[in-house]
Amino acid sequence: MKRFTLLVAIIMALLVPQSTNARTGVTYSPGASGFSIETNSDAQQVKLRIYKDGLGGKPVKTVNMKREQAGGTLWQATVKGDLKGKFYTFDVKYGGKFRGECAGIWATAVGVNGKRGAIVDMTETDPQGWKADVRPNIPAKDLVLYEMHHRDFSIDESGGFTYKGKFLALTEPRAINHLKTLGVNAVHILPSFDYASVDETRLNEPQYNWGYDPVNYNVPEGGYSTDPYKPEVRINEFKQMVQALHKAGIKVILDVVYNHTWNIDGSNFQLTRPDYFYRKNADGSYSNGSGCGNETASEREGMRQYMVESVKYWVDEYHIDGFRFDLMGVHDIETMNAIRNAVPQDIFIYGEGWSAGNCAYPGDKLAMKAHIQQMPGIAAFSDCIRDGLRGPWDSNSKAAFLGGVKGYEESLKFGIVGAIQHPGVDYSKVNYSKAPYATEPTQMIAYVSCHDDMCLVDRLKASVKGITTDELIRLDLLAQTVVMTSQGVPFMLSGEEMLRDKKGVHNSYESPDSINHLDWDNMERYPQVMEYYKNLIAMRKAHPAFHMGSADMVRRNLDFLPTENCLVAFHINGKNVPGEQWNDIYVAFNTHKRARSIEVPEGTYTVVCRNIKCDQAGLTTIKGGKVTIPAQSALIIHN
Ligand code: CA
Repeated sequence: MKRFTLLVAIIMALLVPQSTNARTGVTYSPGASGFSIETNSDAQQVKLRIYKDGLGGKPVKTVNMKREQAGGTLWQATVKGDLKGKFYTFDVKYGGKFRGECAGIWATAVGVNGKRGAIVDMTETDPQGWKADVRPNIPAKDLVLYEMHHRDFSIDESGGFTYKGKFLALTEPRAINHLKTLGVNAVHILPSFDYASVDETRLNEPQYNWGYDPVNYNVPEGGYSTDPYKPEVRINEFKQMVQALHKAGIKVILDVVYNHTWNIDGSNFQLTRPDYFYRKNADGSYSNGSGCGNETASEREGMRQYMVESVKYWVDEYHIDGFRFDLMGVHDIETMNAIRNAVPQDIFIYGEGWSAGNCAYPGDKLAMKAHIQQMPGIAAFSDCIRDGLRGPWDSNSKAAFLGGVKGYEESLKFGIVGAIQHPGVDYSKVNYSKAPYATEPTQMIAYVSCHDDMCLVDRLKASVKGITTDELIRLDLLAQTVVMTSQGVPFMLSGEEMLRDKKGVHNSYESPDSINHLDWDNMERYPQVMEYYKNLIAMRKAHPAFHMGSADMVRRNLDFLPTENCLVAFHINGKNVPGEQWNDIYVAFNTHKRARSIEVPEGTYTVVCRNIKCDQAGLTTIKGGKVTIPAQSALIIHN
């Protein structure tokens, strides 16, 4: 009996949360709703207010919350009756002053503009068939990522969408068919949690923002819903979006921005636990590693746990397939590993392996690109391949490989092997990383453009003097051929497939629709671009040689050909790659304004990519020996 009691005690100790509750907020049942909030230990009082609406009006009830234990940090209240459809706020008193009402850090439903938490029966937010929704099974090595902003994608009349700029646009056949035709299998959506910069009470007016100004981390953004006043609508519509994409075999990746909040004083963090969630400098000022005025402190237990629980929540409640961490280099390595270990292995995690300023935390503990080897199963964007192609990030007009500037060949090679150790790369000549950083090639994101900086068309126009439309298309297709034949995980910005431009605006985070929108008429203007992109992506997906997924295999089976400036070429021994139908594959990139050549062994080869045409079934055949690559284009042949 005694032994049994001890066993129960041990089990209880393991099951019962320790000093901190992972998720606070509200738990709803028709008979009563429970509220909880965590504060710092010096909090003096917490008021809970219940409202009829998400904005305005007087509280219908005000409750003094009870401290769980003297000097404790957890406060609770139970309110009897059916509160479904009501709203709530917390107001915490420190030093004799209430700090102000907020939804708390764990609201999972909110009213308009995220000012008040909402009491919702989450089971009623599921669309029909939601229980049967499953994440598509696509290993990291097979992913092709498509980064998009809801409003960019569907706002313009030319798109013909019913739900312009909304989550629901991604449920429309026009969207699904486009994505399936293009062949991407993961949509990475720019911030889609509740952010501050779009006023949800004025959605009849055009408002644009990327959304890197988080308010409520665990609630979808109201501006992308058809009714931000009804808390369950955005939740339901977000789920419909995920469901439609999953049905099409497309994963949904969330852009998460835990590294900073839109402001300090008004944030849920600061209103409930002042100064707990933010890093400070030695002089007491707030550190600004995010470049947005503040930086969170992932190394603190409560912040780390918050990030872990938030990510788990999106996976469990919304069936999210992966996460892109904004300024991942602001977070610490231990937290990123804790997140990795808290979610299933098929959840794809990647981030920006840098910060936007100095962080108030030891640099060797930050989740920077150079530390990716300490973070198995986490990938980082490669600025080496990006800038090696288009030109350096601190200039809009400097060209690199694409512009026919010599000296970037090793940066391309670095990106082609997926940032791993490879005998064919001279790391001393790589633009930024003077050493390989990835253990496996799936730890590197290959890309040439994203929402930040100029899009590819604008950058080419700004950096290649006197560029013609023909050259623009040639170099655009060449750039994506490098990306799509990289052993890293390829990533493209939405609209590149229709030769989008942003009229030269390099930081379009709040530019009007006229700058950011996709012009779907471009599909008819430049049909050869979409044609090439889809054929290129289809070829990558059909040929394991282009995404081996293992550093050892890449080292064994990929070797570079001796070449000259502005010419990079490699060979893959397809015979050694499981599932690969092609034997020897040769890939070459030439950015000279005239044809160049490479030497390949004698024999007959099938050409699958040449002179801005790509078709894995074969365009023509050629003889080995000296093989010509036309000006400013890619060549891919195999036998
Ligand atoms: Ca919002």
